Amino acid sequence: MDPWVLAYDGFDPAAEGLREALTTLGNGYVATRGAAAEAEADGVHYPGTYLAGCYDRLESHVAGRTVTNEDIVNVPNWLPLTFRPVGGEWFAPGGDVRILSCRRRLDLRRGVLTRLVRVRDGDGRTTAVEERRLVSMDDPHLAALSVTVTPEDWDGLLEIRAALDGRVVNAGVARYRELNGRHLVPLAAHSSADGIVELLARTATSRVEIALAARTTAPGHPGARRAALTRRAWAADVLTLHAHAGEAVRVEKIVAVHTSRDRAIGAPAEAARAAALRAPGFEELLERHAGAWERLWARARVESGDAEVRQTLNLYAFHLLQTASPHVADLDVGLPARGLHGEAYRGHVFWDELFVFPYLAPRFPGVAEALLKYRWRRLPAARRAAAREGRAGAMFPWQSGSDGREETPDLHHNPRSGRWLPDNSHLQRHVGLAVAVNAWRHHRVTRDAAFLAGFGGELMAEVARLFAALAVREGDRYAIRGVMGPDEYHDGYPDRAEPGIDNNAYTNVMTAWLMRRVLETPAVADAGGLTAADLDRFAELAHGLRVDFHDGVISQFEGYGELLELDWDRYRRGYGDIRRLDRILEAEGDTPNRYKASKQADVLMLFHVLGEEELTRLLTGLGYAWDPAAAARTVDYYLARTCHGSTLSAVVHAGVLARVRPGASEPFLVEALNSDVRDVQGGTTAEGVHLGAMAGVLSLFGGSAERRANAHPGAGAGAEP
Ligand code: BGC
Repeated sequence: MDPWVLAYDGFDPAAEGLREALTTLGNGYVATRGAAAEAEADGVHYPGTYLAGCYDRLESHVAGRTVTNEDIVNVPNWLPLTFRPVGGEWFAPGGDVRILSCRRRLDLRRGVLTRLVRVRDGDGRTTAVEERRLVSMDDPHLAALSVTVTPEDWDGLLEIRAALDGRVVNAGVARYRELNGRHLVPLAAHSSADGIVELLARTATSRVEIALAARTTAPGHPGARRAALTRRAWAADVLTLHAHAGEAVRVEKIVAVHTSRDRAIGAPAEAARAAALRAPGFEELLERHAGAWERLWARARVESGDAEVRQTLNLYAFHLLQTASPHVADLDVGLPARGLHGEAYRGHVFWDELFVFPYLAPRFPGVAEALLKYRWRRLPAARRAAAREGRAGAMFPWQSGSDGREETPDLHHNPRSGRWLPDNSHLQRHVGLAVAVNAWRHHRVTRDAAFLAGFGGELMAEVARLFAALAVREGDRYAIRGVMGPDEYHDGYPDRAEPGIDNNAYTNVMTAWLMRRVLETPAVADAGGLTAADLDRFAELAHGLRVDFHDGVISQFEGYGELLELDWDRYRRGYGDIRRLDRILEAEGDTPNRYKASKQADVLMLFHVLGEEELTRLLTGLGYAWDPAAAARTVDYYLARTCHGSTLSAVVHAGVLARVRPGASEPFLVEALNSDVRDVQGGTTAEGVHLGAMAGVLSLFGGSAERRANAHPGAGAGAEP
């Protein structure tokens, strides 16, 4: 077991999607799934390439309605490279060329994907192919393939075809296939005299121009003949050369990508062409790329004594850094929950950065700051969203994309029942609290007074204003009504028409936390222009927010105690995997709103984010009796009523149980570790990795960096500015 290598032997169509996702290569600007270079999207392979922050909005017609969705765009595929003996068939999945053996190896230390295949064609010719692939961490606009083709038992003319393919659509997630995925409009495809193949496309409605340019050469074969092939939205170079049994032919394909959103360029097509012409050869690119990774790893490493665990930690840090790399500091992008690894959740940004900051912020504060800047640039949109509901402050969207409007779809599809259902998850106002917590964490790491006096303080103050406006006085307490907690199974009360639940404990206690932080930090009040009246109200909330209790435990929300107990055994027996209990119940004509059953940690999020000490301080400050026995009771209570339908749940349970019920933590730690790498049946990693869970796992092992910096944003109140 090499902790720096993820290896796959053989080819398994059922596992291909997962393997492609986990062998994605990226650099924060662009990422490409680890699909075979000779493959097209065919139900088994899915060669997706995504540019950070490149979204497009389209209308679709589903369930008799017109809906709009903004997607991260699957941009033209730069990978295509295949070969044939002249007169033979191009090597491609499903063709006559049989794969005899296949081995993939992802070198996590250097960010290089190697694939070795041996194939035999219909005429019995055997050929070995070795491909090395990189997406440069040194120059984010460059990617490259080095491919060695060795005829084992034949001589003759060999053709190698390297293409750029703009005919791709967004079709990576089966559930979304009824939605319009035609985001690309082809503009040009050609081959220029200087040996560069070029492709230009733009996104349909956001009108981002995307230019790719490829330079394909056979360095040891100056006599190779070159021919260009172009079609609409597809352009290729075909090299023809003499091959001999046992003699390797090596070709390099160096690709540059630019878009109209890049800085310091004129036109994207010209920039891509110039970059492809200027780029060094594969070996030099590789050296620079590996050097950039070496510098990242010097900061990124998380250790474990167990080689298998270490491999998983390396893999998770690798994928996190391929999405949130130092290159994002130059972009305007948030953290897509599923990475740049697939199309799940359409590349949207949720609250998952809450799970990422404890690992990321102390190690890569520049990246953390960039992710907060993404939020800050969308403060005006969040203010408008709050104002539309008649509230002050900033209401960040549950799902965020290009411009900060709410991107949560109106409808979601239950594949089990085939029905499209209203999606109320936008009521998860707590996403704003995650932004505020992360701003605070970033400050705790950097001690940057200017950040707090500037955009960091403004973020915290505006979120605090919103929650102060959401809270209504009822008797001697303040209530927050009509929201959703992190547990997405409860989006309303069974007997109430309006969606939303009241007094979600996580939302209310975190609001109290934020009010206290703002009150204790004058710089925040100054940055946000808070008035004395604002601060008076914040102080009342810090002591007056309502938290419900039942059976000696914190109630997840008001009324939770009166819900029915689910017959867990019956559902486990009947369905086996009940992680998507919501879909099961809906398909039965029922709803999770009737039951004490949660998708993921909700009350336990308080323990996760705040830690036991800070939670005690806040609850006591709110006037509630709280002791360690109540903490243990609460943890046990929800443990028995949660089905872990989100990968975030295992991370939270592993961490919280390790402190509150040490003996019970292990299975959750194992589940969290395995969540993506061994994506259990029914998992969705093939559609994109789970960055929140990956980073959460890193934090569980992270040790001193997290503890010192910010595992619990409340900890170390003595160290206030
Ligand atoms: C979880 C959310 C999470 C989202 C994106 C959902 O399944 O319930 O908490 O933010 O996935 O990762």
